[in-house]
Amino acid sequence: MNATAPSGHFIRQIIDADRAAGRHGGRVITRFPPEPNGYLHIGHAKSICLNFGMAREFGGRCHLRFDDTNPITEEAEYVGSIQRDVAWLGFDWGEHLYFASDYFDRMYRWAEELIRRGKAYVCTLTPEEFKAYRGVPSRPGKPSPWRDRPAEESLDLFRRMQAGAFEEGAYVLRARIDMASPNLHMRDPVIYRIRKASHHRTGDRWNVYPMYDYAHCLEDSIEGVTHSLCTLEFEVHRPLYDWLLDALELFHPQQIEFARLNLSYTVMSKRKLLELVREGKVAGWDDPRLPTLCGLRRRGVPPAAIRAFCDRIGVTKYESLTDVALLEHCIRDELNRTAPRRMAVFNPVRLVLTNVGEDEVLTCEAINNPEDPEAGSRTLRFGRDLLIEADDFLEDPPSKFYRLGPGRAVRLRYAGVVRCTGFTKDEAGAVTEIQAELDRDGSIEADPATPRIRATIHWVSGRDAVEVEARLYDRLFTVEDPAGEAAETEAEAEADTSADYKRFLNPDSLRRVTARVEPSVTDLPPGASVQFERTGYFCADPEDSRPGRPVFNRTATLRDTWARKATQK
Ligand code: ATP
Ligand code: MG
Repeated sequence: MNATAPSGHFIRQIIDADRAAGRHGGRVITRFPPEPNGYLHIGHAKSICLNFGMAREFGGRCHLRFDDTNPITEEAEYVGSIQRDVAWLGFDWGEHLYFASDYFDRMYRWAEELIRRGKAYVCTLTPEEFKAYRGVPSRPGKPSPWRDRPAEESLDLFRRMQAGAFEEGAYVLRARIDMASPNLHMRDPVIYRIRKASHHRTGDRWNVYPMYDYAHCLEDSIEGVTHSLCTLEFEVHRPLYDWLLDALELFHPQQIEFARLNLSYTVMSKRKLLELVREGKVAGWDDPRLPTLCGLRRRGVPPAAIRAFCDRIGVTKYESLTDVALLEHCIRDELNRTAPRRMAVFNPVRLVLTNVGEDEVLTCEAINNPEDPEAGSRTLRFGRDLLIEADDFLEDPPSKFYRLGPGRAVRLRYAGVVRCTGFTKDEAGAVTEIQAELDRDGSIEADPATPRIRATIHWVSGRDAVEVEARLYDRLFTVEDPAGEAAETEAEAEADTSADYKRFLNPDSLRRVTARVEPSVTDLPPGASVQFERTGYFCADPEDSRPGRPVFNRTATLRDTWARKATQK
């Protein structure tokens, strides 16, 4: 590996250099540490691809560790979904599945050790007092009156906290660090609190639970993680982790921070995703409009497209908003290679081939995927009656319109050339039928009176086509950065609290339509992807499809239609 590789990002360079220098005996151990309090989204995919990717690339290993230190928000349901999603993305943690809750005993013993060493104390300040004493970065804070409580007394109180003698909030255990530090995280942070809640794995065994900052660095240390990769907001927590590991004389993983993924036209915070699900703005966690991994899977996004996307965005130290068009590009790129082609007509008008007999059955050979010779071909039946897209015909076409119009000729995909001889309208003036001749012997194409044939359109056989339901999904929000636009203040944006982002929900993010498809489409199994030619990539919905009756979710259009909208403005 070298720095000029396509994604020779800075973390790869650091690990490369560490190995060259023989640090950690040349070993690379990373971890993906989700909190089981929600479903994974594409932001997590960035972290998963990075952690598992680095381990794989350098012959190391990556742990899947559930950071289940908060009994209140965590649920077993999420543990299962997270494992499913990581495996689906194509990564394998092997035997290295861990739970922070399995370390609670050790963490508790270390907390007692900190007390004995005079590096932690039980404090009785109320949360309001705690905040007031802690102060602001520009001025030193005020020490808690309990800061010099004798170790014996703190030890006794801490044990009684765990024994259930006190109510929640009555006492906390704090690390004794530096009330004057400009870094507020170092001003005697809380490391244990009372929580009288049942934990999904440890039940009622604990009445005290470690705070994230205390627990996380210990978990990494226990597992011998060499490179602890996390997002930028943890940079300011790093001195605390170093202090704790020093105080307990434990192994120091190397923490390296990188910028989180933000994606345009969506929201990514768990809190907002939960809100959209709870309020029924979407149909569930796996709604194909959400950036959750289960939503993307249901939409038909192949895991390889997500991995390619994560590779393309790279890893940096700078916060930015990644254009969702890049994800869509990766999806098209992957599906272009892998999805079989079929024809489907979404807004049909009849096309009658006047020189084909009523009961005549014609056939043609259709290539399944021009990008994949292995995919073979299929035989399509057709006859006098066809269906084409209504907008492939214009009664009075402008010169740049190359599809059908009176006297004009087009190529019907795989079936040959047709020349329009007439059309019929209803009383309201809508075209109800187009008449054309099929070029059965090449004479129409050779006829000098036939305008040059420049377009190919898709079609289905009127007699054979099957109706299926298709759901046309579009972006969930109408603006690039819904959370950012909605936040009135920077603090609000940072705290992720504005509810106003819901004003920007796209009212047209889902349209249900009926499509007429060639019969072989009904054989597609649930979850299978297909390209409906000239229309887009679709996937047979894994939940709602029935044998022989698939329901289709649109995964992506064939081109970036939003870019076109933007340039038309
Ligand atoms: P919370 O909203 O609870 O803070 P979180 O997004 O931090 O959620 P975790 O379950 O703690 O969720 O995340 C697991 C891992 O995924 C962490 O290491 C975190 O840094 C990483 N991660 C989360 N969101 C993103 C993102 N948008 N881009 C990159 N990595 C992310
Ligand atoms: Mg988190």
